[in-house]
Amino acid sequence: MNPSQLSEIHSSPATLRKLDKLNLHTEWDLVLHLPLRYEDETRITPIADAPLNTPIQIEATVLHQQIQFKPRKQLLVQIQDPSGNILHLRFLHFYPSQQQQLAVGKTIRALGEIKHGFYGDEMIHPKIRAASKQDLATTLTPVYPTVNGLSQLTLRKLIQTALAHIPDEDILPDHILQSLHLPSLLESLNLLHAPPPEYTIRDLHNGALPAWQRLKFDELLAQQLSMRLARQKRLTGQAAAIQSQHQWATALLAQLPFALTMAQQRVLADIRTDLAQTHPMHRLLQGDVGSGKTIVAALAALSVIEAGFQVAVMAPTEILAEQHYQKLSQWLRPFGIQIAWLSGSLKKRDKEQARAALLSGAAQLAIGTHALFQDDVVFHQLGLVIVDEQHRFGVGQRLALKNKGHDVHQLMMSATPIPRTLAMSFFADLDVSAIDELPPGRTPIKTRLVNQIRRREVEGLVRHACAQGRQAYWVCPLIEESETLQLQTAVDTQIELQAALPELTIGLVHGRMKAAEKAAAMNAFIQGETQVLVATTVIEVGVDVPNASLMVIEHAERMGLSQLHQLRGRVGRGAAASSCILLFGEPLSELAKARLKVIYEEHDGFEIARQDLNIRGPGEFLGARQSGAPLLRFANLEEDLRLLEQARHWAAWLIEYRPDVVEAHLNRWLSNRAQYLSA
Ligand code: ADP
Ligand code: MG
Repeated sequence: MNPSQLSEIHSSPATLRKLDKLNLHTEWDLVLHLPLRYEDETRITPIADAPLNTPIQIEATVLHQQIQFKPRKQLLVQIQDPSGNILHLRFLHFYPSQQQQLAVGKTIRALGEIKHGFYGDEMIHPKIRAASKQDLATTLTPVYPTVNGLSQLTLRKLIQTALAHIPDEDILPDHILQSLHLPSLLESLNLLHAPPPEYTIRDLHNGALPAWQRLKFDELLAQQLSMRLARQKRLTGQAAAIQSQHQWATALLAQLPFALTMAQQRVLADIRTDLAQTHPMHRLLQGDVGSGKTIVAALAALSVIEAGFQVAVMAPTEILAEQHYQKLSQWLRPFGIQIAWLSGSLKKRDKEQARAALLSGAAQLAIGTHALFQDDVVFHQLGLVIVDEQHRFGVGQRLALKNKGHDVHQLMMSATPIPRTLAMSFFADLDVSAIDELPPGRTPIKTRLVNQIRRREVEGLVRHACAQGRQAYWVCPLIEESETLQLQTAVDTQIELQAALPELTIGLVHGRMKAAEKAAAMNAFIQGETQVLVATTVIEVGVDVPNASLMVIEHAERMGLSQLHQLRGRVGRGAAASSCILLFGEPLSELAKARLKVIYEEHDGFEIARQDLNIRGPGEFLGARQSGAPLLRFANLEEDLRLLEQARHWAAWLIEYRPDVVEAHLNRWLSNRAQYLSA
């Protein structure tokens, strides 16, 4: 019972192509394409009664028209309505046809907002229509998202046709709708696509409107259903049950210079229990920066390898992958484990060699970037995939991984805690273990906010830290608009700092360096050959150099909160007192001030992530920004928590008792977005 494809119903190939661009393929896609906003052309407001800064329609006659050139070319029109009041219309761009439309003596309708302007009360760029005998609209006018060449009118007609065509019975059982006080879907859609004039535009923008509540609920329900089905599928999947006495892990633990924290022991036990099952593990290991996730991953990997399976460790950047390579080599090589290194920048011959070793099983461990999950990489007997800093991977990459390893145990690690709402929705198929304590002996990181103009003093602090045998990071400002500029800034900063601190050796690492250069720069810093490392945000994730105790971040106001928290977490990994200096440039926007205050006051990654979610929305956490895929179109996880909880409850019920409804509902809602909803 799939929804009708538009290509079967509508004729013009040109229109179909445009609809395709909007991702509209079925009748259901069309009716779920909802207005961005509305215009009220159902009534005429006398100028005398017109409120300011509110969209209204007036009808009036043109008294005067003139083109002015000061301060720049503009069209000024004076109109008067039957109440005798006068209003100015102003156009900064205009065509000759508009001048004709607004010729003196014509009666027109203007739709826009009246503002106090230079010329008195005026409307800027109102929408103009001839008033000649046109009936007023009987519904509010929807304005849809569209693409070039597909007019609002065409789109509106297509949607109305589709609305008339879809079956009018509701697929959700009555008792669910009644218990939630939700209107029928068709009624909701009709209202939102063509609202009767008794609704104000403000009513329609209010998410609490029952019609919106219905759409949001249906959307959340679709998402919950697909997550639940994915989970069921996983639980019936087949994975290798890892039978291990963990002898190697015990041996490694005995050699470590530290003992695991209670939290580390607990999460390791969770993972071991999962690995012994015959269905694939899907566990997220969550722990603030510096909580010691790597050793837990290494111990899990060791047991899987001991049991005769391969393990793949994937990191989002080459720097981080390289670091894992070094750490894991040091820990695992003594057990005779061969490690294959795979990254995008590897020479062809080396890549082939690594692939061959993984295919034959000669290498038991693969470490690399997402190059690990390209199609041509085939494992002999993959038992476990470990994904570090998983929130850094885009949706597309996560999907590739999912397809590759659907019958393989997966351990994901992240320092960015998933807010509760996301855990209940997009990440509902993950079991979560949290490392909620830091290893002992750490001194808290002191954070300071310093105005950029006091840079010299900050250089003095770097000198002081290095004189005591410590090391420092100096993070360059983020320049989102241009990678070239970002690179230039990094290079300049290194030269400047070197000039200011001639007695120190200052290294540089940035995203455009070749992998080998990056590795060399990192190594020099790890070995202490360079005392200061100037870096772009490439060091944001995972880098671990315990001797570094000072971090300077330039133009911290440009960075996201979670990013700052991650950067700050690069220090405070050893026993020395560490500090993080956030340099900021003036003037600071209110928003920037608020964010810097959060990072200054908060040290808890969870709280910071929660505030970040409020400020930036969930796309950031999902890595979806790059993919451009819509996640939720109507519902908002923070605002619609109650609906989310309801959707969760009813999804479970429907799967149990009404599989027919589940299928029909998913067909409607997920025709072409299915895969993204559970990435
Ligand atoms: P993250 O969780 O941010 O990935 P890492 O795994 O890089 O943190 O660990 C941070 C540092 O803490 C590393 O130098 C690691 O060797 C060390 N470490 C990990 N566990 C412990 C522990 N139980 N006691 C002391 N140090 C530890
Ligand atoms: Mg890490």
